[in-house]
Amino acid sequence: RSKSGGRNQLTFFEANMQAAAIRRLKLLAELRHAVPDGQLELYFQPIVDLATGGIVKAEALLRWRHASGALLSPDTFIEVAEESGLIHEIGDWVFRTAAQQSKRWSELLGRDFQISINKSPVQFQPQTEAADWVAHLDAIRLGPRCINVEITEGLLLNLSDTVMDKLATLQASGMQVSIDDFGTGYSSMSYLKRLDIDYLKIDQSFVKELVHDNFSRTITETIIVMAHKLGLKVIAEGVETQEQCDCLGRAGCDFGQGFLFSRPLPAAAFEGLLAGRAG
Ligand code: C2E
Ligand code: MG
Ligand code: MG
Ligand code: MG
Repeated sequence: RSKSGGRNQLTFFEANMQAAAIRRLKLLAELRHAVPDGQLELYFQPIVDLATGGIVKAEALLRWRHASGALLSPDTFIEVAEESGLIHEIGDWVFRTAAQQSKRWSELLGRDFQISINKSPVQFQPQTEAADWVAHLDAIRLGPRCINVEITEGLLLNLSDTVMDKLATLQASGMQVSIDDFGTGYSSMSYLKRLDIDYLKIDQSFVKELVHDNFSRTITETIIVMAHKLGLKVIAEGVETQEQCDCLGRAGCDFGQGFLFSRPLPAAAFEGLLAGRAG
């Protein structure tokens, strides 16, 4: 009896695995059409100068307008894109679209308006050409300082020559680099010495607990002091309350990003916000 029960459980487990595999294949098949069919959208979230409250730049966040009408967030499809290699095509689309927006908003404001884009570690593999990204900015005549590349600590864990070369190519052109989700990876910190990083983005898990948890507040304050001593600027992610904002301001944090200021918005809505609150 217990034997057959065991077999039934196994079968149930296998059926679940199979269903998940099929869902994944379906998602991949649909994702292949996303770029050619124009289903991808960039949303923009303001990054605010905590001293003035003005919007100084933005982060581009990817969305997929699925054929069903649903708007999918990257957590539901980036992994599949990375595993399948589709991330290269998608990443190029993100880069070009963000660059175009930066050009428009820079012209509108009469000054450089920087946009951050997220790059996954897969986009730093040997076959990709960082020089193409540089060449594209040249082609559309956008100053490289208008693009900030966000990478995660995972990429820097085993800092290969390939990754070093690509980052060096980006930075030599004048593009800036941020470490995203700082404090959550296996940060050896040694990479801060070997790379010329411009910004640290404090992960939202610390910001969330900042006001009530001494540990998170101490980590946050320490990251800010360390970053400033190293000549880096700090952006706090996931700022949701005025209390958190005040606490970050007292700790000397440079910039904030989060729902307190605005959710990520479609380009047109972001432009409306920018018109009134550009800093
Ligand atoms: P991330 O780069 O750390 O982006 C911040 C995430 O936090 C975004 O989620 C944003 O919508 C969310 N967020 C912003 N403010 C708040 C807040 O106050 N409270 C809370 N709870 N959340 C906030 P989103 O847009 O779902 O993106 C998730 C992740 O997907 C990003 O994390 C990034 O790692 C990745 N991603 C987004 N766009 C791209 C892309 O174009 N390419 C790649 N490779 N990855 C991307
Ligand atoms: Mg990011
Ligand atoms: Mg982050
Ligand atoms: Mg630099």
